[in-house]
Amino acid sequence: MDIGVKMNLTWDQIASELSGRISPDGFQRWFSRANLVEASENGVVIGLPNTMCQYWIEDNFLKELRESICIITGRPPMPVQFRVVECAAIEEKSETQRETKRSLPEILHDTDNAEAHSGLNPRYTFDTLVVGDSNRMAHAASVAVSDAPARTYNPLFFYGGVGLGKTHLSHAIGNALLQKKKRVRVCYVTSEQFTNDFIEALQKNTLTKFRKKYRMLDVLIIDDIQFLAGKEKSQEEFFHTFNSLFDGRKQIILTSDRPASEIANLQERLVSRFDWGLSAELLSPDPEMRLAILRKKLSGMDAEVSDEILEFLATRIKVNIRRLEGALLRVAAYTSLSGKSVSLQAVEHLLKDLLQEEARRAVTVDIIQKRVSDTYDLRPGDMTSKRRPANIALARQVAMYLCRKLTTHSLQNIGASFGGRDHGTVLHACKTVTSKISQDDRLRQTVQHLEQQLNNS
Ligand code: ADP
Ligand code: MG
Repeated sequence: MDIGVKMNLTWDQIASELSGRISPDGFQRWFSRANLVEASENGVVIGLPNTMCQYWIEDNFLKELRESICIITGRPPMPVQFRVVECAAIEEKSETQRETKRSLPEILHDTDNAEAHSGLNPRYTFDTLVVGDSNRMAHAASVAVSDAPARTYNPLFFYGGVGLGKTHLSHAIGNALLQKKKRVRVCYVTSEQFTNDFIEALQKNTLTKFRKKYRMLDVLIIDDIQFLAGKEKSQEEFFHTFNSLFDGRKQIILTSDRPASEIANLQERLVSRFDWGLSAELLSPDPEMRLAILRKKLSGMDAEVSDEILEFLATRIKVNIRRLEGALLRVAAYTSLSGKSVSLQAVEHLLKDLLQEEARRAVTVDIIQKRVSDTYDLRPGDMTSKRRPANIALARQVAMYLCRKLTTHSLQNIGASFGGRDHGTVLHACKTVTSKISQDDRLRQTVQHLEQQLNNS
């Protein structure tokens, strides 16, 4: 939130107003650990102990919260944002959280500890990450880099759609390095932070300090570098930072929502620098991996959710792991509040908006047929025709395979959409493509690319 003129507002004021508007139980349960992080004329930021709490408050008490603030400040409704500010109750129970917790004497003794300044989230570790086909290569590269920074892949460049684990992986490397060697200088920033830092240094005439800060690191992680697009001065500065670190054999880790070559307005010399290292793509997880992720996340929560519901979530929320996690958190919050297990129906109701959104984004057979025909330079009609030249037959099989994978249609249904073929033909196509992919790198890349495009459309 932009920093505007600060307001005189305290959490006690909000709490006293709010407690008159909601049940004592609800207040105790959801607001007893809340506090006020920031209040300016641009809005209010409220600190909460965990994301579960945030979801619940957003869904149930936002109106009351806004009203309370209006009453106290005498101003029209203003934006209210939430921030998770301390270890969550649910997370305190997870293994990794306990591992990354440090005793008070340790912290006091080591006031200048690297971890505190690194910008890393201690929860994003290799332990909390599920590995599957969609992130195997990125994961392997990350492990290699954390074993021997600046000796293997430099820079390491992750790209892929939103919520697929780019940030998580980059933090996992940093955390692993810090765990091995406390004094290693790791810094994680988003490209926006880097840019803001740079602009501030320009304005305050502290460029030397800025450069020292970034160039004396052992590991620099810059997240979402697509936002450097068009920012010439920042790119220029980043180019020099990059060279200085690279020449000093320091590790650089970058993430982006697309391959470097596809970032418009990114200087060519930067793009070519990125090619020096390794680019690893993160893809959308398959259903099994989605289920494994849900199980892992659930094991760190103090809530019970049935297998049936986990499977339901894994089949219905497909593309984005963050949304999958969000859905689970909502269900977990609900069960912990009601104190009993929920029915599938209740879950459907609870997640109505999310599921509708997923359905809207759903890939259709038509879209798949069109994309595949475009890729193979065929006419859409070729997908349904009886013609069988090899190139058409393969494209058709790829399209059937993708329909099976990306839609919820039955084999029969898919066959029918391909010029009245039977379910055996579709099954055969799926098997053929699966086996060809494992032997033919080019085909695998084509199919993966198509899949990603379709998922992100
Ligand atoms: P991105 O940076 O690609 O947008 P994030 O790294 O922020 O995605 O991941 C979004 C959420 O999904 C995070 O909470 C992260 O922990 C979780 N996540 C992503 N990939 C995995 C995975 N393979 N296993 C477990 N959790 C994952
Ligand atoms: Mg990210």
